[in-house]
Amino acid sequence: RREAARAAAKDACHSADGTRIEIFANIGSVDEAQAATAQGAEGSGLVRSEFLFLGRETAPSEEEQHAAYQGIADALAERPVIVRLLDIGGDKPAAYIPIDAEENPALGQRGVRIALARPDLLETQLRAILRVEPAGQCKIMIPMVASVDELRQVRAVVERLRGAMGIATPVEVGVMVETPAAAMTADLLAAEADFLSIGTNDLTQYVLAMDRGNPTVAAGVDAMHPAVLRMIGETCRLAAVHGRWVGVCGGLASDPAALPILIGLGVTELSAVPGFVAEAKQIVRGLTLVEARAHAELALQCKSAAEVRALARAFEETR
Ligand code: PEP
Ligand code: MG
Repeated sequence: RREAARAAAKDACHSADGTRIEIFANIGSVDEAQAATAQGAEGSGLVRSEFLFLGRETAPSEEEQHAAYQGIADALAERPVIVRLLDIGGDKPAAYIPIDAEENPALGQRGVRIALARPDLLETQLRAILRVEPAGQCKIMIPMVASVDELRQVRAVVERLRGAMGIATPVEVGVMVETPAAAMTADLLAAEADFLSIGTNDLTQYVLAMDRGNPTVAAGVDAMHPAVLRMIGETCRLAAVHGRWVGVCGGLASDPAALPILIGLGVTELSAVPGFVAEAKQIVRGLTLVEARAHAELALQCKSAAEVRALARAFEETR
């Protein structure tokens, strides 16, 4: 335990002027959890639990899920582990979770909508997470949230199960900000969520109304678009009303050009691909919050993603 505390202190990342910025890793297996700590990750800001659910004939049992989450928690040695609840549907179908044919799967049954339609799946997954020891290491994150009611419904199930299982330690429940609705009501969500984490991949697709999987529009799907950056800035501003932290676990957190802007907008946790963790720390440690804020202000005034990228390049060249 003492060794874990020492490692955590060594791993802790601050900006050059002392703002605490947590650098986490996105993981989708126990192996990746090990790789992430080796790279200096301070925890996982996104465990893609769908890795347990995709490419098979039946849903994973509570035991199987528990073993996987416990393995990840052990590999991360007491560091925070944010498990995203099942995020399938849309571009990630599973045969044993039948979804009626949809004309617009990206706007249909996916993420938390499936969890609420299938309480059996939700409760099995929640029990598997709640059983992980030490209690409280695993936090719960809800994907594709569009309204406060979805958070309330999931939280109610978490609390009911926690009571039934006799777990005294509170469990944090956060939301992903992947819809414009969640971004624009971040204050309402922050009043009831323990944290917010922005999924820039989906947020970009929904803000720009461009399918993230459609090659014809792929060139336009850039999270550095000023409209997306403004949404991120608003999310941070609104969440701060209730003192909640905002992270980014989408692809933008692994884009070196984006980090100064994200920090300047008020993001205090970045969950990146494991291979980018060390570089992310280096970038954050070389940056003051004051200069990041000024840089972000300029980015918000740009007229296109290309203009933001040119600004980011110029910023990097001054380093
Ligand atoms: C996102 O949408 O940014 C995200 C992290 O989730 P996924 O890419 O798995 O949809
Ligand atoms: Mg997503």
